[in-house]
Amino acid sequence: MILPKGPRLNPEQVREITGIVESFGCHIQPIVGAVRTIYAIVGDERDELMINRLEGLSYIERIDRIQSPFKLMDIRSDLATHKITIGGVTLGRKLLVIAGQCTIDPKNPGYFYETAQAVKEAGAHVLRGGVWKPRTNPYAFQGDDKSLDILMEASRRTGLPVDTEVMDEGQLKLALDAGVPMLQVGARNALNYSLLRQIGGAVAGRKTIVLLKRSLHMGTLHEFISAAEYIANFGNPNVILCPRGTAPALDGYRNHPDESIVPLLKERTWAPVVIDPSHSVGKAAYVPACALAAVAYGADGLCIEAHVQPSKGIGDDPKQAVTPAVLAETIRLAREIWTLRRPAKSG
Ligand code: PEP
Ligand code: MN
Repeated sequence: MILPKGPRLNPEQVREITGIVESFGCHIQPIVGAVRTIYAIVGDERDELMINRLEGLSYIERIDRIQSPFKLMDIRSDLATHKITIGGVTLGRKLLVIAGQCTIDPKNPGYFYETAQAVKEAGAHVLRGGVWKPRTNPYAFQGDDKSLDILMEASRRTGLPVDTEVMDEGQLKLALDAGVPMLQVGARNALNYSLLRQIGGAVAGRKTIVLLKRSLHMGTLHEFISAAEYIANFGNPNVILCPRGTAPALDGYRNHPDESIVPLLKERTWAPVVIDPSHSVGKAAYVPACALAAVAYGADGLCIEAHVQPSKGIGDDPKQAVTPAVLAETIRLAREIWTLRRPAKSG
């Protein structure tokens, strides 16, 4: 819908906008009002270049889009009934819990094997473990290919499917070759469109699930859902949105907790939403409340950093990981909230 600055366009201006939209296969339908005439774009109005050309005209106030820019991830798309299942949980039917260490310590694999068993006993369905880590400090531990073997061994020992972050094509290939069923796109890479395309291409034709974190710098929900669309448009729509706090941080928390966006996402996309309270608040003591708030807001699942002995962990674990006992209690309470939220569908 084209809204002119003045009450109506003159014939020359109408000719100009008609020429633009026709070159993109659309046409113009004026809607004449008593004081103002607006101009509907009839046809597929999603082409960014067409919108930019119209918005660039000095006599146009704005363009209101009627059609969603998301062909696949939109709540009204044909994929709206698509279901994603992992670890025996179909998202939307039962609360999914992903838990495990921020970072696998290749020098002390024993902790990860113990954590894996403990999160399983606490009720987690998917085991997370960072093999490669995006670290702000270039001198901090960056991860290790060897940790991939530890991750897969923990998966075999517990029977839990695993989730790990990949940051480049090499890691992507190693993870897929090893059989990692859930790949994480971290907050720092959620706006890395080349990586999103590489992951989309690599998971097309597979059952792999992508857990897409929300970038620290994503302002609009549109940006977040568009990042999911980047992956899905290669053919595999198994994308889960994972808000994890944004910038600027709320004084005292690591980031600005953003679990409250769940209902807003749910109005726009069918994609399941799994909240990561650990990176959102950044301190173990605050994690349970954030996790429970997320479930109250309508989250389909939680991704929680947990460690058998947080103080012996590396990466975020010493400050952020909850113990298995806290994890178990958080899961118990989260399930109660889930049941209160949707009594007919709880499981
Ligand atoms: C992580 O999951 O350990 C991690 C680095 O997350 P994020 O990308 O959300 O910071
Ligand atoms: Mn972490």
